[in-house]
Amino acid sequence: MKTSDFRFDPSQVRTGYSHSTIFKEDGFGMNYCSSCGVRVLTQVPEGDHLPRQVCPSCHTIHYSNPKILVGAIPVWERKILLCRRAIAPREGYWTMPSGFMENGETLQMGAARETFEESLARVTIEDLMSVINIAAHNQVHILFRAQMDSPEHGVTLESSEVRFFEEAEIPWADLAFRTVTQALTHFVEDRQRGQRTLHLVDLETTRP
Ligand SMILES: [Zn+2]
Repeated sequence: MKTSDFRFDPSQVRTGYSHSTIFKEDGFGMNYCSSCGVRVLTQVPEGDHLPRQVCPSCHTIHYSNPKILVGAIPVWERKILLCRRAIAPREGYWTMPSGFMENGETLQMGAARETFEESLARVTIEDLMSVINIAAHNQVHILFRAQMDSPEHGVTLESSEVRFFEEAEIPWADLAFRTVTQALTHFVEDRQRGQRTLHLVDLETTRP
């Protein structure tokens, strides 16, 4: 894990593919074109520098790009609301509400929606707290601080238990993902220092 200034390094750009090169489909999720149903090929389109899934019939290029996950640390009277995961992966371990951003919503809308879906808590989204790059996993995790509108919360299909934790009770050994550990560390350390800062982290792992 490190936080560093980013400097563009052209040598890091993957090159050397010829436009006619056909690649194995390893690492690509699509077998058939979602536009016309013909089997797709994996090749570097002209003018591009990475292999893409390309339809030989309708010529649609099916780009695969990173996923954004968005979430919040919900707080009521200094207590932190966490959820015990009811679903794989990491079933039974604790997390803040977080999930994949949906089309048509802002980051703040996504954070509030995920919080309600996973904990039945209604929150006011406050400031941006953590941006966690997991380049090896094609994900960016974005977390906000959030104030609960009331202490109401409850279990959901995604969470077998939802409860408040005092700072000293946070179950550090039973957190679901390294992103959860990171975000809660940012939250707790900032609050102990009486400050709110934005944390930009590169998590060097293939495991979230
Ligand atoms: Zn097609």
